[in-house]
Amino acid sequence: MILELKGINKEFKIDKSTSFNALSNINLGFNRGEFVSILGPSGCGKSTLLNIIAGLDMPSSGELFIDSKSTKKYKAKNWDFYRKNNIGFVFQQFNLIEHLSALENVELVMSLTGQKKAARNKRALELLESVGISKEHALHTPAQLSGGQKQRVAIARALANDPDIILADEPTGALDTKTGLQVMELLQEVAKDKLIIMVTHNKKLAYDYSSRVIQILDGEIQSDEQLKQQSNINTNKTLNKKNKAMPFREAFKLSLRNMKKKIGRVAITAFAGSVGIAGISLVLGLSNGANIFIDQQITKFATSNVVSVSKLEADPKNKEKVKPVTDKKKYEFVLDNDKVASLRKKVPDNIGNWKYENKVIETQSGALADKDHRQHINDALEGRLPVDGKDEVIVNRAFARSMITNGKEKLTSEDTSKMLNKKVKLDLASSGFDGKQEFKVVGIMDEIDVNQPYIYYSYNDMIDYYKDSKILVKDEQGNKVDPSLIKAMGIKLTSAYDSLMKKPKSYEVVLKDAKDAKEVAGWISHNGKDVQDNSELNVSMMGGQDKVGTNVTSFSLVFQMALSTIVNIAQLVMIAFLIIALVVSSILIAIVLFSSILERKSEIGILKAVGARKKDVMRVFQSEAILLGLFAGLIGIVVSFIIAPLAEMIVNNFVDFDVSGLVKIPLSGQLFGVQVPFLQLISLVLISTLVAFIAGYLPSRRATKMQVIDALRDE
Ligand code: ADP
Ligand code: MG
Repeated sequence: MILELKGINKEFKIDKSTSFNALSNINLGFNRGEFVSILGPSGCGKSTLLNIIAGLDMPSSGELFIDSKSTKKYKAKNWDFYRKNNIGFVFQQFNLIEHLSALENVELVMSLTGQKKAARNKRALELLESVGISKEHALHTPAQLSGGQKQRVAIARALANDPDIILADEPTGALDTKTGLQVMELLQEVAKDKLIIMVTHNKKLAYDYSSRVIQILDGEIQSDEQLKQQSNINTNKTLNKKNKAMPFREAFKLSLRNMKKKIGRVAITAFAGSVGIAGISLVLGLSNGANIFIDQQITKFATSNVVSVSKLEADPKNKEKVKPVTDKKKYEFVLDNDKVASLRKKVPDNIGNWKYENKVIETQSGALADKDHRQHINDALEGRLPVDGKDEVIVNRAFARSMITNGKEKLTSEDTSKMLNKKVKLDLASSGFDGKQEFKVVGIMDEIDVNQPYIYYSYNDMIDYYKDSKILVKDEQGNKVDPSLIKAMGIKLTSAYDSLMKKPKSYEVVLKDAKDAKEVAGWISHNGKDVQDNSELNVSMMGGQDKVGTNVTSFSLVFQMALSTIVNIAQLVMIAFLIIALVVSSILIAIVLFSSILERKSEIGILKAVGARKKDVMRVFQSEAILLGLFAGLIGIVVSFIIAPLAEMIVNNFVDFDVSGLVKIPLSGQLFGVQVPFLQLISLVLISTLVAFIAGYLPSRRATKMQVIDALRDE
C-alpha cells in the first residue's frame, strides 16, 4: 500500500469551548492503479480528508503512512518533498497561475524539481498535447482558455513531475456535463499506473469511472465499494525518491514575469523608490563637481603656488615669551620636498596705498613666483605677466573694479579691462616708509570673484623698491620729518630693506604646482613628515601668533579648505535627508510587496500545493524585492543624470560666477587604490538593491507563513 490512514480524526476549533469534528476515525488504504472516488454531500469532510492525505493539513489524531512509513516525524521539508515528487493536484477552481501561460504553468512544477529548461519545455508540450491542448493554446494565459481547457492544463500540470498519486478535488465541479465527462476520461486514462483519489458529490461520475467508491457522511465512512478488479500493475513499487530543488534563477524568472504583467505598478514603485538614490547620486555629483571647481579656481589665484611659513619658538631669555624664527637655516628642510621649487624671504605684508588717477585704495598685495613657476596664471590672465625690473604689476578684476568705480557698480570684465596699461602708484607712507613708485598694470586676473582687490608684483622689483625706501622718522606729534633735514643733523637713516629683509619674520615657499599646496603645507607644518589627514593641517590666515610651532599660510589654501568644509557639511546634511528618503522608499517597497503577496495568495497556495519549499516561496518574493530595488537604483541613476543640468541652472541663478559643470556625477572612483569605472553608480544600485532586499524580508517571510488551504480557499 502506498497510502494508509489509521484512525484519522480532524477537529476544527470553532471557539474556545466548542469544536467541530470534520473527520472521525478514518481507516483507509490505497494502492497504485486505483481510481478512488470519495463521494459525499457538500460539507461532509471530503476536502479535509484530501488535504490531510496531501499533507496540507494535519489530523488532530491518527496517523498517515506513506510507503508503509509513518509520517509522525515528518518535517515541513519532508512534506514539501512528498508533494513535489509524489503528488499531483487537480482543483475544482483549476488554480492556474494567472500571469503564466498554460505552458509555463506546467513547466513551473518541473522547475521546482530542478529540471532543465529544454527538457521542461519538451515534456510540457507533450503533456499538454496528450490532454488535448494544442501548441497554439499552450501559449495562452488561463484567462484566454475555457474551463475545460483550464482543467486539462491543470491535469497536465499534475502529471508534470510524474507523481505516483493524483489528488483531485471536485475536478468537474466547475465544468459543464460534456466537458466534465471528457475530463473524467482523461483521469481514467491516467489512472492506469497511478493512484487517483478524486473527491466528488456526483454519484454518477463516481460509479461510471472509478474502480472504488468510498462514501462519507458527516466525517464518517459509510461504505467502501470495490467496483473493478485492480489492473495488473506492480502495486509494490515504492514512491519516487528523486530529489532536486528549484534553482534561484527560476524564482527570479517567476517574479520577473509577474512584474511584467504589472508593469505600471512596478514602474511607479521603482520610480518612487528611486528618489533616494537619485538624490544621493546628485549630492555625490555636486560635491565631486564642487571639489573639481574648487581645484580649478585654486590655480586661478596668481599666488596660489606661494605658501608662506612662519615659525615661532620660545625665547630662551624669557620663557613666557615666544619669538619668530628669523634663521633661514631652520626653514631649509622644506627644500627636501621634491614639490618645492624655492624658498625665499617674505616681502613684508605692509599694507600700502595704491593710487590710480584720483582714487586711492588700501589693499593687499603678493609677490609672484619666479618666471619658471607661474605658468598656471596664464589661463586666467588677460594681458601678460610682469617682466622683472620694469615695475610692472598684475591686478585682479576686483582691484580694477575698485579703481574704476570704487567697487559700487557691477561691471563686466570688458569694463574692468580698461585698467590694462594704466599706471598705479604705491605709497607706503601710512606704514612708515618713505618710498613712492609707479607700476604699470600689464595684466588682469580672472580670479574667482571674492571681491577682494588684490595686486601682484614681481618679487625682485619689490625687493628693489624696499631697498630704495627709507623708514620715515616722525616727530613727537607724529608728523614725518624731512629726511634731508635728518641727514643734515648727522643722523643715519636705516634702509627699510635692512630693517625688514635681513631678519624676516616669515619665509615663502614656492611650489612647482599649486595643486600640491595642501600636501606641502601639511608636510611643512609637521616639520617634514607626511600628513595623512588634512585636518592635521595647521593653516590659518592669521599666522598663529600665540602658538609655538610652524604656521603655514596661503590665501588659496584657506579658500580651498573653507569651501571644502562647507561642501562636506552640506553633503552630510543632504545625505542625512536622503537616507530618510531611502528608508521611506524601502517602506514603500515593503508595502508594495505586502500587497503583492495578498494578491498572489492563490499563487502561493498553488506553489506550496505542488511542493514548493518555504525557501522557494520566500525566494520568489525576495527576488521581486531585489528586482524592485534594482530598477529603483537604475532609474535613480538615470534621473540624477537628467536632473543634474537643471540643478546647475538653478544654482547659476543664485551665484555670480559661472557654475556650469558644478554637478559632476563621478563616473569612476578609487577602490583600494585602483580606479574602478562606474564605482559610485554601481555602489548606489547595489545599495538600492540591498535596501529593497532587507525591506522585502518581512513580507517574504509572511508569504511563507501563509496557510496553503487558506490561500487556496480564497479563490
Ligand atoms: P467538503 O466535503 O464540502 O469538501 P470540507 O472538508 O471542506 O467539506 O469541510 C468539512 C467541514 O469542516 C465543513 O463543515 C466545514 O465547514 C468544516 N471546516 C473545514 N475547514 C474548516 C476550518 N479551517 N475551520 C473550521 N471548520 C472547517
Ligand atoms: Mg470540498
